[in-house]
Amino acid sequence: MSAKTHNLAMTPVFPGSTDADGQRATLGVLGGGQLGRMLVHAAQRLGYFTAVLDPDAQSPAGLVSHHHIQTAYDDPTGLAELAHLCQAITTEFENVPAQALQTLALTRPVAPGAVVVGIAQDRIEEKAHFTAGADLSGVACAPYAVIETPAQLQAVRADRADLLPGILKTARMGYDGKGQVRVKTGDELAAAWAELGSVACVLEKMLPLAAECSVLVARGWDGQAVSYAPQRNVHVDGILAVTHAYEGNMPPALATRARNAAVSLAQHLGYVGVLCVEFFVVDDGSGQGSLVVNEMAPRPHNSGHYTLDACDVSQFDLQVHAMAGLPLPSPRQHSPAIMLNLLGEVWFDGNGQRREPDWQAVLSLPGTHLHLYGKAEARIGRKMGHLTITGPDVEVVRTTARRAAELLGLPGLDGL
Ligand code: ATP
Ligand code: MG
Repeated sequence: MSAKTHNLAMTPVFPGSTDADGQRATLGVLGGGQLGRMLVHAAQRLGYFTAVLDPDAQSPAGLVSHHHIQTAYDDPTGLAELAHLCQAITTEFENVPAQALQTLALTRPVAPGAVVVGIAQDRIEEKAHFTAGADLSGVACAPYAVIETPAQLQAVRADRADLLPGILKTARMGYDGKGQVRVKTGDELAAAWAELGSVACVLEKMLPLAAECSVLVARGWDGQAVSYAPQRNVHVDGILAVTHAYEGNMPPALATRARNAAVSLAQHLGYVGVLCVEFFVVDDGSGQGSLVVNEMAPRPHNSGHYTLDACDVSQFDLQVHAMAGLPLPSPRQHSPAIMLNLLGEVWFDGNGQRREPDWQAVLSLPGTHLHLYGKAEARIGRKMGHLTITGPDVEVVRTTARRAAELLGLPGLDGL
């Protein structure tokens, strides 16, 4: 199957409308996590009814949606009910079975489509697209090799010393640095592959990163695309910790290049919806750094949460517009912003005792916007919420972000 989808003629689903059977305009989402919750909020604000399919009775999006279909993602009855209730459907969960999207697409417009979600779910396919087909304005991905068999492992050990030290990543189901092992030698590589269950993997060369950034693009059924300027991201232990979103967050020439590359990728894929493309800025000794494409997420992204508070149109608004066939407004950022991710750690003190974060102090800081996802149980590494700080200028935003990070006991935020 080709990655290009032939855009269906999409009849817009207008908010607040009622069809001939008296059914209210309803948008559906496969997956009930925090991304689904923020999408539901955006859809409801516009006047849509919403339906969420997620097996968890307490899912963040299910809790706030008009309809919550509580079945497995591949349950035919659940999928039929979702299709029955909704005039357009999206996904918020990267590892949703692509087959479920295909089933839904038989009767409803589904954005993004099963083919492109399938590509993004598999690092091997994704990298093949980055290197071969896609016009990424000359931006390459990190040097890598595919390891799916013992013979490939041996071949890499024999011929690809250039990839060490490297990171072995499972081709499928990785997120937040899970399914990744850092390796320095051929022996470590063999041990890591065994540790990962000898599943299909890619070995990527470890690059000297000067920075990381991501670009959000939204593309409509008609091929029109809009985008945000790149945001700079800081990861701690493989999980996004901080997003810097303001002018001057990275060298302007690299920012333009990353943005162009992301838009070309969305066009090349015939993508419909919000796409996030992650890039590395590699320290190449030039002082400027060079760009490498890391991966893409076929959905709104954690690094784009600042758009809720710092832009006139958020990434979730754009996802709603794109999936429903509404016009795509070009987003405008009105305030510089820093986003701090709030992982479960924030709910524990240094001795591992449960505590409530000091919201009184945090929320008394000017320009703080708290978003909690409605998850009952705080666990280490679990994304519980985020705090966006906006302000009149970057220095004020930085100072407030530092203070908020101190109050919350956020680790590893030296770069603020
Ligand atoms: P996500 O939560 O973004 O889906 P993921 O688990 O899919 O993450 P990656 O984005 O591939 O994983 O990697 C996580 C982080 O590990 C990157 O953001 C980067 O900090 C680091 N990293 C990954 N690959 C490399 C590399 N080749 N060289 C240096 N650092 C890397
Ligand atoms: Mg990543």
